[in-house]
Amino acid sequence: GHRIPAWYCRECKAITVSRKDPQKCSKCGSTQIDQDPDVLDTWFSSQLWPFSTLGWPEPTPELKRFYPNSVLVTGFDILFFWVARMMMAGIHFMKDVPFHDIFLHGLVRDEHGEKFSKTKGNVIDPLEIIDEFGADALRLALVLLAFLGRDLRLSKKRIEDSKHFINKIWNASRFALSQLEDFDPGQRPAGEKSLADRWVLSRLQAAIRETRRLIDSYQFSEAAQAVYHFFWDEFCDWYIEWSKPFFYRPEKPAQKIAAQNTIRHVLDQALRLLHPFMPFLTEEIWQALPGHGESIMTAKFPEPDPELSDPNAEAAAADLQEAVSALRVLRAENMVPIAAKVKVLILADDQATAEFFQEHKLYIESPPQVNIRELEIKTGADKPMSFVAHRIKKAEVCLDLAGLVDFDREEARLKKEIDKIDRELSRIDSTLAKPGFADKAPKEVIEKQLAIKNELLEKQQAVLANIKRLQALRARVK
Ligand SMILES: [Zn+2]
Repeated sequence: GHRIPAWYCRECKAITVSRKDPQKCSKCGSTQIDQDPDVLDTWFSSQLWPFSTLGWPEPTPELKRFYPNSVLVTGFDILFFWVARMMMAGIHFMKDVPFHDIFLHGLVRDEHGEKFSKTKGNVIDPLEIIDEFGADALRLALVLLAFLGRDLRLSKKRIEDSKHFINKIWNASRFALSQLEDFDPGQRPAGEKSLADRWVLSRLQAAIRETRRLIDSYQFSEAAQAVYHFFWDEFCDWYIEWSKPFFYRPEKPAQKIAAQNTIRHVLDQALRLLHPFMPFLTEEIWQALPGHGESIMTAKFPEPDPELSDPNAEAAAADLQEAVSALRVLRAENMVPIAAKVKVLILADDQATAEFFQEHKLYIESPPQVNIRELEIKTGADKPMSFVAHRIKKAEVCLDLAGLVDFDREEARLKKEIDKIDRELSRIDSTLAKPGFADKAPKEVIEKQLAIKNELLEKQQAVLANIKRLQALRARVK
């Protein structure tokens, strides 16, 4: 810190205060003077930080370029100690405020909202976390939790979630890179874009616009979520699955070229969007992309390209996604085993809708978990008794249950489950009914038993409902 500019005279005890170091006492002229050994409050020095670090009081080029600065990032707990003083000192010495925006982040607390403390033993050591999960996983978890001005509740679970996202990025990138092995970035015809290509490029523009808007308004958590959502839910879950036929068995080579161009471009742009949140991972993968530049750190942050926005492709893709989701719901609701291949019927309300689904059959068949053996599309409303249906916008999605569910086995399994629940219930009831238990056992013990009982009763209801549904289905299919 700065030493107090006061000198004490050993002879006459007078105090000399001076900007320049004095040689003698200002009262009696003695040279026997000693400077105060103490320093000024630490915040006195810190308030000079915005300009003293730039060479002030000399008019250096750095001072000219970086004062005033644009934004200060800090915690609210030193708003008065530091921020207010920097403001005052800046206005006094530099005749201008040191920055125009102040971003106040929250404090990092544990998952229950408690401050980290060694005595409580709830400290999460960043170095241990980095060893276990990597620096990017920790950084992303912190950013995702950093809502404007609110405290962050950090837990290992949050960091594990980030790690899962990192694995997702690795896997998607590995797929993309393996499809780009014969890709020549210097010579690339546009190819023939599929609906999936047009859709993901359009969604990418929306993600770029949203991420930029959120970063510009300091909503870092929401910005990270926007990229996360685009990468996982749209690029990985839909585009990669939809693009596989164009890579593995394209009807025309131009389709494969378009898919290669698209996957390279989307991955490149998504990595740049992710870079501020996960610097190491994104640099590593970006360096493996064909046609990459020197470093993703100095690569341009993505800007939206209005030419790639495609509302028609987005609307068509949404209709196809709705049909696929309907199928997944039907499979789950009717207890269709995951591995079972199903016969599907789409009953369109009109000819145009039937033609639309016919043309884009591939997009209904290729996503995982639908597992379609046969897909028939027609207009009308007639379906055999063994089909169950789910209404979507302009059609009914129907699934044939005939031969899919082994009713006897499924019913036996559910009845066995009911027997097990009944046994556990009677055990709890007899514990609760033991003489003296209700008055003597600690309150927590009794509450715990009652909570288990309630849970079992709920489970019993759910299983009974499943048995009922199974019997109804059996009646329809037979
Ligand atoms: Zn003196």
